[in-house]
Amino acid sequence: MRWSRYYIPTLKEAPADAEVVSHKLLVRAGMIRKLTSGIYTWLPLGLRTLEKAKNIVRREMNAAGAMETLLPMVQPGELWEESGRWKKYGKELLRFKDRHDRDYCLGPTHEEVMTDLLRGEVKSYRQLPLNLYQIQTKYRDEVRPRFGLMRGREFLMKDAYSFDVDDEGANKSYASMKEAYHKIFSSMGLDFRPVEADSGAIGGNFSHEFMVLAETGEDAITACTNWPECTWAANVERAPIKTEFEQDTTPCPAMEELDTPSQHTIEELVAFMGTSADKFIKTLLFMADGKPVAVLLRGDRELNEIKLAHLIDADDIQFATPEQVEAMTGAAVGFAGPAGLKGVDKIYADKELKACNDWIAGANKTDKHVRHLSLIRDVELPIEYVDLRNAVAGDPCPECGKPLEIKRGIEVGHIFKLGTKYSEALRATFLDENGKERIIVMGCYGIGVSRVVAACIEQNFDGDGIKFPPQLAPFDAQLVCLDPKDAEVAGKCDMIEAFLEGMGLECLYDDREERPGVKFKDADLIGLPVQITVGGKGLKNGVIEVKNRRTGEKSTLPADQFETAFPAWYDSVLESWKR
Ligand code: ATP
Ligand code: MG
Repeated sequence: MRWSRYYIPTLKEAPADAEVVSHKLLVRAGMIRKLTSGIYTWLPLGLRTLEKAKNIVRREMNAAGAMETLLPMVQPGELWEESGRWKKYGKELLRFKDRHDRDYCLGPTHEEVMTDLLRGEVKSYRQLPLNLYQIQTKYRDEVRPRFGLMRGREFLMKDAYSFDVDDEGANKSYASMKEAYHKIFSSMGLDFRPVEADSGAIGGNFSHEFMVLAETGEDAITACTNWPECTWAANVERAPIKTEFEQDTTPCPAMEELDTPSQHTIEELVAFMGTSADKFIKTLLFMADGKPVAVLLRGDRELNEIKLAHLIDADDIQFATPEQVEAMTGAAVGFAGPAGLKGVDKIYADKELKACNDWIAGANKTDKHVRHLSLIRDVELPIEYVDLRNAVAGDPCPECGKPLEIKRGIEVGHIFKLGTKYSEALRATFLDENGKERIIVMGCYGIGVSRVVAACIEQNFDGDGIKFPPQLAPFDAQLVCLDPKDAEVAGKCDMIEAFLEGMGLECLYDDREERPGVKFKDADLIGLPVQITVGGKGLKNGVIEVKNRRTGEKSTLPADQFETAFPAWYDSVLESWKR
């Protein structure tokens, strides 16, 4: 492909609204353009990468026995009424009416439509299992569309749905998708971790998220430092703390009150008292489904709200209002403590609080704290010790006990065992071998294909631009012709282009009448894995310069033996991408 005849509108500056590197570079490299908030056009170069991602997904899905379909994007409201999600889904669902005043929405996901497709048509256990998928544009009216392709309103998703006769079958389908996802993200050349995710539901349902590791990731994940021997990893939301503590019974001096005027937060108190945050107890007061709940944590820890929600089985947990706090403590916000607390019949404490018997906490009096508080001596209410905090680096791995580390990730895929949630609501049943009617057991499996392109860049870039892994690069090689008017140079470039194509490599041939500096900058910006530079000076010295964009290493290959020398050098580039 000749650059001079191709449309690659590269830019020196990133748009002002671009916060993350993938957004900046995708726009600057002439791969995407914004139409309006969260909605992007794919330009020719960008589309080539998107197509590569789609093809890898398609290949592995097909290999796993899933079958491609294409469902409508416009979905009738009635179907969402039937599943109960018309009301539940909230504002992310873009709803509209047709000329007959009937309700419709743009598909944010396709459980309803896919289940509707099979109900009534799949009648016998003989027709199952089935796994159908599509690669299609989704629309979600996100509250905060941002980060370019990462959180768009319109985006490309691969979504697959499996249908099985029983739980065992559904678990098999799930395992086969999990394996396919491994192959997909490995084939894309990405560094990723599958992590256990919160499925929000109790029972036989479970889910994994596939996270591309990148410092800019929105999600915090905990992973075992013993990788790859131990592959345990989980969303921080979901990581259990396995350490158990014995109750510390070291005698504690008598509790005494301290004046702490206007010192409300742990940070203020730490500065005020000159002690560290781990000597404090943080008392958090909530209203959970309308009932007061008290939670104790060590001062330097963060509450894991999902653990709390599971523990007390509550749907709605809000911080108590200042009035409610006052009713429970008799004090202003900021001075709550376990001794003398009212309005609850027990206190939940993070189990780590057993490890010490001498704490600083709120006194339940405005502008006062207490020190030398012993939870076993000074607190009237019963205390239940449970796992309530977020995991931190150094906590033991629940699987092997080695220390955990915290990493950041971008969720590119999510697999979910649904069970019978949709098949029950929509009555998708079949007749088993005894002629008995049973409900189909489902799973669903998503990949954010457009987000993958952004995640790939978040993981692979430098100050000059993108470093595309070979598998997702829009072309394999950039051929930089320094003197397009020089017949010898141009002739050599034509020959190299033909040679690369013969090797099965796609070549972007920069034949523009531009200064070398402009061409080099553009080459680094769009970041094809290989750069081959041909110029008059080099040819005089008998050499052609090649550069591995990932490592930045430059080498020279003999101009007259380019064909024999190039393949081995190219292998070294591919090798440098092995993880
Ligand atoms: P998130 O927590 O990021 O909002 P989700 O849980 O809503 O994701 P799913 O419904 O599981 O996502 O969708 C499947 C995949 O689609 C996700 O793993 C993600 O890669 C992608 N995806 C979801 N929302 C967006 C979005 N707004 N823009 C781009 N990709 C998205
Ligand atoms: Mg979402």
